[in-house]
This record gives sequence, structure tokens and C-alpha cells, in this order.
Amino acid sequence: LLSRRLQVVASYLPLGAHFADIGSDHAYLPCYVCLKDPSAVAVAGEVNDGPYQSAKKEVEANDLTDRISVRKGDGLSVLSPDEVEQVVIAGMGGTLITNILETGKRKLSRVSRVVVQPNVDAKSLRRWLADNRYKIMAEEILEEAGHIYEVIVADKQAAGEQAKYTPKEIYFGPYLLKEKNDSFKRKWREEKAKKEYVREEMNKAVTPDTKKIAVLEQEIQWIEEVMQNE
Ligand code: SAM
Repeated sequence: LLSRRLQVVASYLPLGAHFADIGSDHAYLPCYVCLKDPSAVAVAGEVNDGPYQSAKKEVEANDLTDRISVRKGDGLSVLSPDEVEQVVIAGMGGTLITNILETGKRKLSRVSRVVVQPNVDAKSLRRWLADNRYKIMAEEILEEAGHIYEVIVADKQAAGEQAKYTPKEIYFGPYLLKEKNDSFKRKWREEKAKKEYVREEMNKAVTPDTKKIAVLEQEIQWIEEVMQNE
């Protein structure tokens, strides 16, 4: 059975999806989607040989070689221009996902939807999406096996349109911030405790890095504001 995290990611692909799953590892996600939807077609991309071989095996075992093309290469370089309509990148840090999107920008010309699941640092990814005319359509935050995961779904906007977000929306997520569910509260309670600890440690230094401390204080203040009355 597919993890709930990846089931949530899959739920944001339309019927008849023509998508790429970059960093696919065992290709569990594209196999799940293509088994459920006979009209779906996918590319599974992997940069590392071990996961690439696992992906090939999984696709063959599910008899899906005619609909899932497993390719070895870095990020979006495995795609030809205009090849897919949706891109999924899940289970990596937000900065790495952002780098993959930025480096492969040319391959995104026909991509109307991106579904990303950053393990950490979702804010850099939200910033990139907004700056590249992707509007956030939905977000989810969920817990599985003690970990908290965020899923962000963004659609390409028409030329000339640009979604605007406040710095707090970029930091917490515009939808997650509105909903503030239990996982959200748990995540930010923990983040606040971590940041307070780091701040104390930094303040003990012989020459404290005042710039970094100021950033931490700003973040701690935001978290306090958002968690007020919660
Ligand atoms: N997407 C799957 C998931 O969410 O369960 C697998 C996540 S796994 C932690 C990350 C995978 O991304 C690894 O298999 C790694 O080899 C692959 N990866 C890392 N950087 C990559 C890149 N630049 N291009 C393609 N794959 C990459």
C-alpha cells in the first residue's frame, strides 16, 4: 500500500494525467497512479543508479512499461520540452526541489500543475512558485509515522497574472495558515522550541551573529503571532 503522504500527492493529479515524477525512487507513485487510472501516462526520473534500477523493476513487475518511462538523469533533464503537463517532486528538501525546478525551467513550458512535497524549507519553494507565475491552489499538512509532511499544489497562471503573498504566507503557507490544523500547530510549536534553543546558543557566543539572531527573532515572533489563541 502506498504511504498516505504519496496518496495525498497522487490525489492532486487529474484523471488522464501526463506527468513526471522526479526523484521517483521505487516509482511507487507513478505505478499507483497508472494502476488506478488506465489513461494516465508517466515519466519516472532518477539521478541515482540504485533507485533507477528499483524503479525499472517496479514498473516491469506491474506490467506498466508501456505507460511509465523510467529514465536516468538529473532533475527535469530527463524530459523533452513540452512532454508532460504535471510535475511531481516529493520527499526532498525544499531547496533541492527549488533548484530542480529552476535548473529545468525550460522543460516547464507546458506544465500546468506542479505538486511538490518538501520535507523541509517549504518557504523557498513557495517563493519560487510565486516568482514563476505558479499560483498555490491547495496545501496539505499531514503526519505519518511521527513525521510531518507538507504538500503544495500550484497551477500556472496566465501571462500577466501574478499571485501575491505576504511574507507570512510564504513562510507558513497561505492555505495552511488559514486552516491551522493540529499538525500545523504541532509543527510550529516544535519549530519555535528549536529556534529558541538555537537563539540561546547563539547568544552565548563570544561574538554573537546579530544578523542571524535577528532573523531567528523575527521568525519566533511570527510563530507566536500565528499561534496566538491556539
Ligand atoms: N519521491 C519519492 C518519495 O517521495 O517517496 C522518493 C523520495 S527519496 C527520499 C528522494 C529521491 O530523489 C532519491 O531516490 C534520489 O536519488 C532522488 N534525487 C535526488 N536528487 C535528484 C535529482 N536532482 N534528480 C533526480 N532525482 C533526484
